[in-house]
Amino acid sequence: MKTINIAIDGPAGAGKSTIAKMVSKELGYIYVDTGALYRTIALYITENAIPDDEIAASLEKADVSLRFIDGVQRVFLGDRDVSDLIRTPEISMAASRTSAIPAVRAYLFDTQQKIARENNVLMDGRDIGTVVLPDADVKIFLTASAEERANRRYKELAEKPDCPTYQEILDDIIKRDYQDMHRETAPLKQADDAVLVDTTKLDLEGSAAAIVKIIKDKLQ
Ligand code: C5P
Repeated sequence: MKTINIAIDGPAGAGKSTIAKMVSKELGYIYVDTGALYRTIALYITENAIPDDEIAASLEKADVSLRFIDGVQRVFLGDRDVSDLIRTPEISMAASRTSAIPAVRAYLFDTQQKIARENNVLMDGRDIGTVVLPDADVKIFLTASAEERANRRYKELAEKPDCPTYQEILDDIIKRDYQDMHRETAPLKQADDAVLVDTTKLDLEGSAAAIVKIIKDKLQ
C-alpha cells in the first residue's frame, strides 16, 4: 500500500519540529525529525574525535538508528539513546558542518527513505522535498525572519543556566542558514512545488492550523 508522505523543510528555528509534531498528531502520522540523524552523526564524530579525512570511512561503524516509542522518535547511537545529548549549541553547529559532507548525506539517505516507504510520515529537514522525498504528496517550506527565529529561541532558553545572548543566538542562526543554503550537496532551498508558509506573524496554533489545511486540501 502506498504511504502518505508530507515533507516539511525550512531553516533552523522556524518552528518546524514543534509545529510538525502538532500536525502529525492531528493527522495520525509518524513525525520524523531528520535533523536528529545529522546531530547524532555530529555527536559520533565529536565523541570519537574523528578527523575530517576519516569521516566517510568511519560511518559504517556509526550505527545510527531511529526508534519510535509510543509514536515518539528517539535516536540511538548503537544501544545508547542520545536524543537529549544532541540538543546543544555545539552539536547544532557541528551537525551543520558535517551535514555538508556528501558521504554523511548518502549514509542517512536510505534510513530516511525506508521510514517513508513503510509509514505515513511527516518528515522535517532541509532537503526532504528536494532530495529525500521528491515525490512527497505535500511539500511545505516553513520559514520566519531570522530575528523572529532568534527571538523565539532566546525565550525558550532564557530560563536555562548559561543562556546565550540574543545576539549570539541570532549570529548562530544566520551562520547556520548560510552554511545550510550554500553547501554543494542538497542545500536548503524551497522545492518548486512546495507551499511557502511564513510564520513570522503566526503563533504555533495558527501555523499548525494553516499547515493542516494545506495538507487536507491537497490530499482531497
Ligand atoms: O533541524 P536541526 O536544526 O536539528 O538540524 C541540524 C542540522 O542538520 C541543520 O543545521 C542542517 O545542517 C542539518 N540537516 C540537514 N538536512 C536535513 C536535516 C538537518 O542538512 N534533512
